[in-house]
Amino acid sequence: MRPLKILLIEDNPSIARQLAEFLEIEGWQMDFAHRGRQGLHLALEQIFDLIILDLGLPDMDGLKVCEKIKTQAAVNMPILMLTARDSIADKESGFGIGADDYLCKPFEPRELILRCRALARRHQLHTSDEIQIGDLQINQRQQTAYRDKQPLALTTIGYRILALLAQASPAPVSRSAIIHHIWGDEPPKTDALKSHIYSLRQTLDKPFQVPMLKTINNLGYQLDVANARNQ
Ligand code: CA
Repeated sequence: MRPLKILLIEDNPSIARQLAEFLEIEGWQMDFAHRGRQGLHLALEQIFDLIILDLGLPDMDGLKVCEKIKTQAAVNMPILMLTARDSIADKESGFGIGADDYLCKPFEPRELILRCRALARRHQLHTSDEIQIGDLQINQRQQTAYRDKQPLALTTIGYRILALLAQASPAPVSRSAIIHHIWGDEPPKTDALKSHIYSLRQTLDKPFQVPMLKTINNLGYQLDVANARNQ
């Protein structure tokens, strides 16, 4: 299993630091938010293997953050809720709006690690290797793509953009989310995404009758067959 990419949304700096120390020992890559809105923003901009979300946050309640991530993020990301309030009502409302697991403070760091592993693994198992959109077929394990049963000769970056769009489809993915997914915190200075999208179109759409890759103005890109047919 590759190192997990985890977003920790926790307003208490000493708890955040303590958790980060334990999670980083596992070799996991951590991103942090100390406010609800900031965490939500990161979750909508990037793709994480797991989000650890504190329930009590100063600006936006953890339940609200969870609900928004679950309804607005392009890709389904598992959410582990942390709370000091050990009550059934909180657990029920947490699960009601889509939290995948729950941990009550104080907890053993070891338990957090085990739950993170289990959640990420369960999520990966549920994420199928094969994605089929119209006549496009992607095998995420082999990192190959076929259209109308013909193999697509994609570059590494082209494949990664296509796989990201396919995971989100039919929802669009913002330019900034794609750029972050491909280049992380060091995006290229030139508009490299534009030229990668151009060559992806040459391979994915040009030889075929129905274009799948759509540009959504002021937002980003989308893979869709249904709408393409109506154009
Ligand atoms: Ca808190």
